[in-house]
Amino acid sequence: MDAAPGQPAVVAGGRPDDILRVEDLAIHFPVLSGTFIRRQVGAVKAVDGVSFTLRRGETLGLVGESGCGKSTTGLAILRMLDVTRGRIIYEGEDVTHHDRRQLRGFRRHVQMVYQDPYGSLNPRMKVRDIIAEPLEVHGLAGSEAEMRERIDRMLATVGLLPYMADRYPHEFSGGQRQRIGIARSLALEPNLLICDEPVSALDVSIQAQVVNLLMDLQQRLGLSYVFVAHDLAVVRHISDRIAVMYLGRIVEIAGRDDLYREPLHPYTQALLSAIPVADPVAEAERPRMVVSGEVPSALNPPSGCRFHTRCPAVMPICREADPALVALDDTRSVACHLHPAPG
Ligand code: SF4
Repeated sequence: MDAAPGQPAVVAGGRPDDILRVEDLAIHFPVLSGTFIRRQVGAVKAVDGVSFTLRRGETLGLVGESGCGKSTTGLAILRMLDVTRGRIIYEGEDVTHHDRRQLRGFRRHVQMVYQDPYGSLNPRMKVRDIIAEPLEVHGLAGSEAEMRERIDRMLATVGLLPYMADRYPHEFSGGQRQRIGIARSLALEPNLLICDEPVSALDVSIQAQVVNLLMDLQQRLGLSYVFVAHDLAVVRHISDRIAVMYLGRIVEIAGRDDLYREPLHPYTQALLSAIPVADPVAEAERPRMVVSGEVPSALNPPSGCRFHTRCPAVMPICREADPALVALDDTRSVACHLHPAPG
């Protein structure tokens, strides 16, 4: 059903507590060739049929190696990339084809926390102006006193002090800069944050502090998170459910505890077995699952199961038939021929 121009498309279906639904999302980047007449000769399928839901107040971890499409998925949810196929539904409204004006409204509710607290803050702006910028862009600045009060409140929310508003980003540590980035993301009082590897540029000692801050903010402000990370160790603490991505697809999605206790997809098993264990004896004795080779190109993904070129459990069918992501029960779905649909 097409909506009338300017009219939000309200989509039926889903659960009442879903804040976000992503349906069969594909993001393909055209590959062009030719010196004078440029023509498309292929497409990099960065994301190729990703579906998931996010419940209100939930954190979904989106995990996979570099190039698996997890950050691209996050950018697409915010409509910072053109969607090749599929739908993004926020609070029951299809935002996939929102125009610029509609996107302004949408982005009051959905914000991004960026990976790099060094690169994402303008070094020539004071912290006060960095946090004020989204309020000004959205026409919510109010009076000078209101703005000052709001900025002080935002700084306090992320554990910083009011006098810090008059400093520049280079005067802060990495962890403090990420707190400033989070304060900027919260300025518009959003409901949903897309956190794109928000701790991977920080020292390990600081990572836990920022993750704990995000968890505390979620409790206090009722936020929902899509939390993108490249390793399962980082998302374990914060996620309610985890989706594992490989070469543009989700290969397994499950509740956090189920996934760590009993990973079903060979790729999830490999990612988990790569996490070091603190106890040196247990670390020396535990079985390892090593996945050899490089991630294949998303320009020309392997036939059948995309993981078959690296999978230690590969079978003849894996080279020919692409396994669908099938629900094994209410909480877990897997895309692997070792785990066919029940019944
Ligand atoms: Fe491995 Fe086959 Fe399962 Fe793919 S479908 S993960 S190749 S066993």
